[in-house]
Amino acid sequence: MSRGESAMRPITVLSQASQFKSHNLFTRGQANRLIFVIPLKRVITVPTLRPLEQFVCDVCGDLIENVEDGYVIYRCENYRDCGFKIIHQGRCDDNKAPKSEALKEFLGARGLIMLTGFLSPGPIIINLTHPEIDESPKSLDEFTDFFRRVQVPFYEEARQKFNQPGLLHEFHGDNELFPYFEETLRDICDTEFDD
Ligand SMILES: [Zn+2]
Repeated sequence: MSRGESAMRPITVLSQASQFKSHNLFTRGQANRLIFVIPLKRVITVPTLRPLEQFVCDVCGDLIENVEDGYVIYRCENYRDCGFKIIHQGRCDDNKAPKSEALKEFLGARGLIMLTGFLSPGPIIINLTHPEIDESPKSLDEFTDFFRRVQVPFYEEARQKFNQPGLLHEFHGDNELFPYFEETLRDICDTEFDD
């Protein structure tokens, strides 16, 4: 059963010896052809999210089981958008957020237009109006996180581990892109890191 077919994967009980497997996705220094293989404790975790179909609610912390149940809320400060949250529509919406959109609007190719629209109005509007006010997101760190949640497979699930000391230790010294490639994120999902 592939990850895309179900939110639940079978639990695999690994022997003590097999819990530590070398995994070449964690190979560093490919550019200069050096190979370092880091032993990682690998266990199967359940449940898992269906990539880009299921999300974790930023209000209640529970699973958003279907895209149709998801909602995005945010606000604007000095013309700049911020506070992006993915939440359960209705159930976790206190109706206080001044801006909102259905989660599905941020997914797929159409979602890329929505997301890049936060970064630039694009050449046609720029040529027409010559905007002078910076309306880009207030925090590009926050916006990049949101962008990747709705566009990059396995980011949403892997993201739940981004503050774990064991994970931070594993990626110490890596460049800023390596942790977020799909293959690396999938590996993070399947790895149990030390706290
Ligand atoms: Zn919720």
